[in-house]
Amino acid sequence: MNLVFVAMPAAGKGTIGKILNSLYGYKIISTGDILRKESEKNNYIKDTIAKGNFVNEDLIIKLVKKEILNLGDNLYILDGFPRTLNQAQAYLDMLDEINGNDFAVINFEVSKEIVVKRIMGRRICFSCGAIYNVNFKEASSKKDGICDFCNSPLSLREDDNLESIEKRLSEYYEKTLPLIDFFENINKIYTVDANKNIEYTLSQIKSIIEMEDVKWLQLKLQEN
Ligand code: AMP
Repeated sequence: MNLVFVAMPAAGKGTIGKILNSLYGYKIISTGDILRKESEKNNYIKDTIAKGNFVNEDLIIKLVKKEILNLGDNLYILDGFPRTLNQAQAYLDMLDEINGNDFAVINFEVSKEIVVKRIMGRRICFSCGAIYNVNFKEASSKKDGICDFCNSPLSLREDDNLESIEKRLSEYYEKTLPLIDFFENINKIYTVDANKNIEYTLSQIKSIIEMEDVKWLQLKLQEN
């Protein structure tokens, strides 16, 4: 079962994705990561991300389709897509068109206060992708400002500042929140409490994966 993460910024989806990749081998399609890489050679993308606005939908939809096709039959996690109703519908159309595998949506529920605290403390290792948080002791690096894994210096994301956070949150409320009803209507969504630590969020998602696997097995047995 593929997974689709829907969440406010800094709800923990990037970190959870990395853990699920190492535990179960899910490939990660993170539109934010792909766009950040593209932004090194594209000023439109760089400016849009820095301001906290959404990047052009047609571009994102094409990009995600290409990534999904490249993965073949590998299980994947969509981290950061879809983010609008239009993208959600495009995803369903895309799956029909390419005969894609079924998916479950995980909605990370988290309060605005926690999101702001996480964003302000987030530090990234741009060399190996590790994510830390100086506002939470358990998520800090061992040495201040240095990656535990590759010893590179840690940095802030360009869009992790108060002005951009406000914009990203308003984009979320206006354009992403309606996805919860959209996916509820087609029975595809699970909501997890992402207000506590990563272990707690992870344990809820592991249960969902197990539940979906059992459902899938039952369906296969019925088919035979
Ligand atoms: P993220 O790393 O998921 O927080 O994404 C960082 C930024 O990339 C967002 O604030 C948007 O500017 C852009 N972005 C990522 N995914 C999308 C998407 N599906 N649609 C539009 N913009 C996106």
